[in-house]
Formats: sequence, C-alpha cells, structure tokens
Amino acid sequence: MQPPGVIHLDQASRLWKKKPFSLMVKPVGNFCNLNCSYCYYSPSSCTHGRMSDDLLRESMYKVIVHNESDEISICWHGGEPLFAGLDFYEKALDFQREALKAKGSLQKISNSIQTNGTLIDRKWASFFRENNFLAGISLDGPRDIHNAFRLNIAGLPLFDKTMEGLGHLIDHGVEFNTLSTVNAYCKGRGADVYGFLRDSGSRFMQFLPVVSPGKTWGINALDYGRFMVDIFDQWWGNHDAGKYYVQLFDVTLANYMSMEGGLCQFSPVCGDVPVVEMDGKVYACDHFVTPEHLLGSIADEADSLFFNGKLPNFGIRKFSALPKKCLNCEHLKLCYGGCPEHRIVNTADGRKLNYLCEGYTLLFDHIQSRLKEMSDFIRGL
Ligand code: SF4
Ligand code: SF4
Repeated sequence: MQPPGVIHLDQASRLWKKKPFSLMVKPVGNFCNLNCSYCYYSPSSCTHGRMSDDLLRESMYKVIVHNESDEISICWHGGEPLFAGLDFYEKALDFQREALKAKGSLQKISNSIQTNGTLIDRKWASFFRENNFLAGISLDGPRDIHNAFRLNIAGLPLFDKTMEGLGHLIDHGVEFNTLSTVNAYCKGRGADVYGFLRDSGSRFMQFLPVVSPGKTWGINALDYGRFMVDIFDQWWGNHDAGKYYVQLFDVTLANYMSMEGGLCQFSPVCGDVPVVEMDGKVYACDHFVTPEHLLGSIADEADSLFFNGKLPNFGIRKFSALPKKCLNCEHLKLCYGGCPEHRIVNTADGRKLNYLCEGYTLLFDHIQSRLKEMSDFIRGL
C-alpha cells in the first residue's frame, strides 16, 4: 500500500496518452487592450505580434497527430486573443482539419477562447457560433466591481464594452461561461455578484481568487471563503443546482464523490494544460511561464514535451510537495492543497501551505452537509 503523501510518476495524467488532451495557445502573447491591476502578466512586457503561420500549423499538428486521445481541447488565451484577428482562427481551423485528414483520424476537437469581451462584435460572434467555439468571458460582476481593477491602458473602465460583447454572444447563441476574479473589492459582495451574473445570462460561472498579499487588489483567505459561502447560499437557496453551474462547487462535489473533478487546482496531480506561447515556447502551466518551467519548443518531439519529460514531474509535485497540515487534513480529498502558485505560507515542516487554506476550510465546513445531500441524491438516481 502506498504511504500517505507519496505519489508516483506513473500517476501523472500526462503519461496516459488516451486521456483528453488540452493545450492552451497564446497567439498574441500578453498583448491586451486592458491593463488590469491584478493581471499576472506585467504590462511593461506587453509586446505586439502574432504567432506565425508556421508555428500555428506546427502546434495544431503536434496536438492532433501525436497523441491517442479521442478528445482534444484547444484554448485560445491571452493577453487578448481576439487581437490575432479572425483570419488567424480561420487558418487554425484549416490546420486542424488538415492534421485530422493527414492522420486519418476521427478525434473530436473543441476550441474555446478566453476574452475580455470588449472586441466582440457581430462578426466574431457569428464566427464563434458557426465553429462551435466556447467563449469564456472575463466579467468580474456589476459595474462598480468590474470597473474597480479592469481598466484600459488609458485608465478608462470598459464595463459597457464587455456587456456589449456579451450581448453579441447571447444574440448569436454562442455557448459561453463567465470568469470572475474574486479581488479585494469583492469583499462581502458574493450575493450581488452571483445575482448579477445570473441575470446577465451566465449559466456556467468560474471564480478565480486574486492572491496578491500586500497589494490593494488581493483578497485575503477568509474574505474569499466568505464570498464563496455567500455564492453557495444564493445558488442553493435559489434551487439553482443543476440549472446554474459554479465550477468550484461541481469540482468539490465530484471530489467528495471520489470522481474526477477536472479542475487542476483541486486535483491531486496537475499539469494537464501546457501552454504554447506566441514564439512557440511551451511551458508546463499558464501560471508558471518561467525559464524553470520551460518544456521546450513546439517543434520538439511530442513525447519529450508532454509525455515523458518535465511535465509529468511538474504535475506530481502538486501532491508530493504538500505540507503535513494538508496530509492530515479532513478536507484533503476536496482541494488537494490547492494550486502550488498559492502555496506561500511557511509551515513547521519547511513546506508551503496554501494562502487560501482558511477560506477553503470555511467553505468546506459550510457546505459539508449539502455535499452529502447532493451525493446521496445523485447516487440514488
Ligand atoms: S500550477 Fe496551479 S494553475 Fe498550474 S496546472 Fe497546477 S494547479 Fe493548475
Ligand atoms: S483545506 Fe487547507 S489544510 Fe486542508 S488540504 Fe486544503 S489547503 Fe490543505
């Protein structure tokens, strides 16, 4: 039997070539028309450019031809990926079709795009609809919350432009979800934010805590926990379970039921979504685009990039670096210590604990009986 706290390399998901394969691609790097205070890309390093056609083709071939998965997801990300232009995505789809043909494969390819929404017009919306793109739209909440830290380069708020973009998605029937940061300005506003997103038509909500201790925009652990408790109470109180999806609750429930949750931060092993930058460099994770986590170039062999190189090792460190506090925690199988990026609190054993731990504990304690209720209901179906 495996001792607690040990996870072996062969448990890294990237060693299993048939598993659904995801790749994040950043066609314009960090270039963006917004200059959000909490962005993890420094605006001073923003450079304008676009991935070359050769690299785009190589990326699509690499991801399609060199793995055995039946399902491949490609997430276009930024910066603001709409700056690549419609023709870029038309080419990307052509290369995907070419690669499938060359392989003689029936693999299912899905495309998603994460955007601030300000550039979406009818043309973009109809392109997304026609090509089944899932759009993730960054929307922090009602006007005052959205405009608190999401300003453009000139310091102007763009809430109305984002809502206009969202309107085009809705009018064209584009499938979308919302991504909302939970920052210092959101403190105590969970109910408002949930109600706003729901009224805006969002049925799939993701909440991303801004962990930036010492910065005016960073939320502390307990305020984050209370915010998520308020969201849960709204979701539960409105009988929204099964109609509106909050990623964190879905994933927590799946983990509670010992099923695969599908969110890297709450999985025992991560590293499922490597990222290709505009210049073709491939990194283990969007949040660790550093020389230390460089896997290579998209022109390298797929095996060395994704399956038997640094990536599986990166993934298992999420579990093997856990502090004792997590290994002994009753909630371990719900959050698995959270994202390594947020592990910044020193502990007695020399390992780092997640900054959000107190918030997670507050939430998990609050929803424990509901998790059991939902789990019993699902198992009884
Ligand atoms: S480091 Fe964090 S964001 Fe990156 S893959 Fe792991 S859990 Fe996910
Ligand atoms: S709740 Fe805290 S102590 Fe428990 S596993 Fe999660 S991060 Fe670790």
